[in-house]
Amino acid sequence: MRPALPRTFATQAALILLPVLLLATYGLWALGKERAALEEEIRERSSATLQLLARELPRAFDEAVNAYVEGDGLYHAQVRKDAGQFIPNPVFRRSPGIPENEIAAKLASWRALHGDFPFADHPAADWYVADRWPRDDGWKTGVPEVPAWFRELPEDQFKDWQAIEHAAAVGQRDEALRLINEFIVGPIDTFAEHNAQFLLRRMEHAGVQDWLQNAWEYSSVDVATPSGLPLSGLALLRALDLNATNRFDDTFKAVLAMWFDQPPSVMTAPLMARVVVLTPTDDSEAMARLDALQTLARRQRQITLQRDRLIPDPEKTPPALTWIDVEGREYFISCGLATDQDNLHILGTTVPSTWLLPRFQKSVADVAALLPEFVSLHLELAGRSIPLRSGIDATPESAVLARENFVLTTSDNADRTEPVVTLEARLASPTAMYRLHARRVWMTGGLIVLAVLAAAFGLWQTLCTLRRQLALNELKTNFVSSVSHELRAPIASVRLMAENLSQRKVTGEAKTAEYSRLIEQECRRLSGLIENVLDYSRIEQGRKQYDLEPTDLGALVEETVRLMKPYAGERGVALRLECEANVAEHPGSIPQFELNLDGRAIQQALINLIDNAVKHSPANAAVVVRLDRSANDMLRLVVEDCGPGIPADERERIFDRFYRRGSELRRETPGIGIGLSIVRHIVEAHGGRVWMEDVASHGSRFIIELNADN
Ligand code: ADP
Repeated sequence: MRPALPRTFATQAALILLPVLLLATYGLWALGKERAALEEEIRERSSATLQLLARELPRAFDEAVNAYVEGDGLYHAQVRKDAGQFIPNPVFRRSPGIPENEIAAKLASWRALHGDFPFADHPAADWYVADRWPRDDGWKTGVPEVPAWFRELPEDQFKDWQAIEHAAAVGQRDEALRLINEFIVGPIDTFAEHNAQFLLRRMEHAGVQDWLQNAWEYSSVDVATPSGLPLSGLALLRALDLNATNRFDDTFKAVLAMWFDQPPSVMTAPLMARVVVLTPTDDSEAMARLDALQTLARRQRQITLQRDRLIPDPEKTPPALTWIDVEGREYFISCGLATDQDNLHILGTTVPSTWLLPRFQKSVADVAALLPEFVSLHLELAGRSIPLRSGIDATPESAVLARENFVLTTSDNADRTEPVVTLEARLASPTAMYRLHARRVWMTGGLIVLAVLAAAFGLWQTLCTLRRQLALNELKTNFVSSVSHELRAPIASVRLMAENLSQRKVTGEAKTAEYSRLIEQECRRLSGLIENVLDYSRIEQGRKQYDLEPTDLGALVEETVRLMKPYAGERGVALRLECEANVAEHPGSIPQFELNLDGRAIQQALINLIDNAVKHSPANAAVVVRLDRSANDMLRLVVEDCGPGIPADERERIFDRFYRRGSELRRETPGIGIGLSIVRHIVEAHGGRVWMEDVASHGSRFIIELNADN
């Protein structure tokens, strides 16, 4: 039965385990908190970064737009110069007139700063619509329409106009001239007057310079014929038809450059075709000029397309900021409105997204780098979501960490209702965010588990030690009672016999001798017992020493058996010494074995074994002490009895100190439980070993094995 644990142990266990469990709980709680704190920290960082970006982006935007407008203006001026006429283009509101001779150098230094950009493929950046889109004034591509001036012509003037056209058609030149002159004098619309002048000039066979003059003048007022054709275009066509030399003088070049650098009309394509035909292919300068003219025309066509897309309904005002697609390219447009008298002007800036976006992204890169890569940044600008940095892309389901609205205006639209732009930081990859945390959870969790396990193991160890200690204490208590018990009986009988002798109650020589022998025998037993106890105490304290000297083992065994014989005889047990043939020349004769050993100690060990054998032998049985040699040439000292033997599971434990078989109350044999532990200590100190085994018939066999070369 296991000894009961003291009640204080439960308290001690609680004191060990409770702090560990408390710490573990706190650790797990703190980890959970840390996850929330991590999220909060990322949110705060995102919000702070977006605030920085909201300040940075308008500046970056302004810088990018202004740089583009500047480069585009310089490029356009250069192309216009190449086309034959240098004038600061009036549509370039933001680029002040740059002297002609500085254009090339300025464009070169712009390119050195910003790199080359294919402006030729894009519409001019800076533009305005002077009034509501003049749809019926003939400068639109598509089917020409009857112009307003003609539709609204008063009845009488309409008749006069028909008469003029009729006279001109049937070849009545004088009549036609007269009618025209009359028509012009009357109070008529300026557009009607321009048309009349045009007919007049045609009839008077005006020269190239006249037509060029006309083309220049009419283009600025956008006059159309009653059939919707632009008068300036028709005048230019006349000039081209009359240009006999096929070479253009400076005025001609200037008019061409001006004409193709304006919104296209139905005349643009036929006029360009005529210019192409008239340009000598072997003249590189002329070809470069043609190229410049085509570039101007292309950019103008793109502006028109862009305006068309931007303001599909002339009654509607275009948005302040927007994106449009023109010929497969994406543009960012900012529009401002200006009223002058009753007219509404639309001022705009067009910047290709291929220019704007990389600059946006570059300008925010440093600030964006403050955020971990699992946070994606987006700019909601005029209905378009622009990723502000590459990395992990957010999905629409990604959680929004922070949002910041700010006002983005340009010099065009500063006075319009504030265009609001939104910046958003999204959690693109929660896994990446929590990876760090997960590692910490594993580490801390692992440490907590280890700490709990270590505490539990420590507690278990303490429990085992405590149990062992309790068991030992019990054994020690038993030992003390056994020793007292073992001492009491012999001392009582010695005292009785000594009293009898001293009071001369014992008479007769034989009786007196018997008493003396008994007293001596009891005293020897007592001193044997005390010797064992003292030895045990020395062993425990580590003070036990062995004096090894050459000793004859055979003689020692013989003497010990002789000494123990009377004791055995007293108990009705026959003690015999045997010697095997493998150690003695004649069986039974004890040979000499010179060994280096502590004779007293080995004798004590043998006495203990014989004492046990005798104690456990039934009456009239024999105890045999034998000396033999094992197969591996070791000397074996065997003590064999016919007692009850020892069950296999206890054969090791009987060598433990204080161990005695059976319960203390039911023990039939005397003893104090240290005999065998002393035997083992002595034998092992001599480099040998001792063990117990079954005897085939019945009983125990204890064997001490010693090295014969000791
Ligand atoms: P004890 O003083 O009790 O004999 P020991 O250490 O000598 O102490 O022996 C331990 C126990 O081993 C004994 O209590 C006994 O039960 C058992 N024992 C020892 N020798 C024998 C034997 N020859 N036959 C049976 N049991 C034995």
